[in-house]
Amino acid sequence: MGASESGKASFRQTGRVIPAHLHAAYQRYVVQQHGRFLLAINFIAMIAYDLYVFADALLIPDMAWESLALRIGLSLIGLVNIYLVFWRSRNVLLMDMLMPVHDIISTIAWFELLKRSTSPDVPTFVYASVVFIILANLGARYSFRGILACSCAISAIILYNLWLLHDGQSKPLLVFSIAYLPVLLFSLFISWTNISGVRLAFLDDQEKQRQRDELAALNQRLSEQASTDALTGVGNRRAFDLALQEHWQQMQRNGRPFSLLLLDIDFFKPFNDHYGHQVGDQCLRHVADCISNSLRHGQGEMYRYGGEEFVILLQITDADELNTLAERLREQVASLAIEHRHRPDALNRLTISIGASTTQAAGVHQAQDLFAHCDRLLYQAKQLGRNRVCSQTLQAQAV
Ligand code: GH3
Ligand code: MG
Ligand code: MG
Repeated sequence: MGASESGKASFRQTGRVIPAHLHAAYQRYVVQQHGRFLLAINFIAMIAYDLYVFADALLIPDMAWESLALRIGLSLIGLVNIYLVFWRSRNVLLMDMLMPVHDIISTIAWFELLKRSTSPDVPTFVYASVVFIILANLGARYSFRGILACSCAISAIILYNLWLLHDGQSKPLLVFSIAYLPVLLFSLFISWTNISGVRLAFLDDQEKQRQRDELAALNQRLSEQASTDALTGVGNRRAFDLALQEHWQQMQRNGRPFSLLLLDIDFFKPFNDHYGHQVGDQCLRHVADCISNSLRHGQGEMYRYGGEEFVILLQITDADELNTLAERLREQVASLAIEHRHRPDALNRLTISIGASTTQAAGVHQAQDLFAHCDRLLYQAKQLGRNRVCSQTLQAQAV
């Protein structure tokens, strides 16, 4: 099973349960996606609660002023709480539970008014208490356990106060429950559906993000593979062609010239013929490692041009500096002391020849001219006896 399939399976297994390592991300998601809703529902509930002052004035007129004072007082406390929870703590559970908790307090306060009123409409008006449970249950988006606890508290308060209002008679309580319980269960079910929906949307979001990350990593790996030489691990011909063009364009933009070294292993064909291609491959790896390790970090970019040829793009352009560097690389490869007893000269070890040039060399008008110039200098180095550097101004002899 691939990484992607196992990832999918893990999300499927967990269903709506948020794995522990995703809790923090889930809380951020709820705040991000539903924070505004939770804030709005607090204000909506508060406005609805305040408007009920008119209902109180109509149905329990003897408690109208008390109702007004109570609602203003509770609303002010509510506003402070909203500020503390939504602007200060930003705790998702507090955001989710603030309105239901306000709801519990409002229910208690309203029943105090009903109990003190002598209005004959109290037994009918008491049915308006279903609004409390509906608002509380439909306003939550994060914690179903939290809303369940608040629902139980609100229901207990309503039923207990109703029982007190009717002096412990069971029939009015039964009739009220016939209307109240379906509303309670239905709104709890909708609440569970809402919260499950948020969880599923979050898990879906995580899965999509995981797939996007996986795809990005895969693309990164593919593009690295497409530009890396499989044998030596340095950049390949394709990467070199792109880098050369990029260097050239950059030079045209900022006027800063650059240099190129073309390196070729001497008498590599007889090396392969006698020691075998596997040893030849190993030798190519050693030479590539040796050269790239000899380059100081950021000094130049090395690529395998093809076969036993390598190229290096460098920012340095001073002819002496360039020649010194090329000489150092040549010496480093020679000092690997890789045995080569089958070369026609008597050197008996593996060496390289180097052609070195800069964009300042005469006749270099485009990127390809620079490469052709290095190629000519490399040919020259070979003609002069190999194991040497030929650069545009200096033609150093082998040491
Ligand atoms: P010169 O000094 O003139 O460069 O001679 P040379 O023998 O190195 O040059 P030539 O172009 O005749 O031979 C290059 C050899 O490089 C041919 C081939 O056997 C070997 N070669 C090219 N690519 C690879 C490779 O990937 N692995 C191995 N083992 N050998 C390779
Ligand atoms: Mg060659
Ligand atoms: Mg060669």
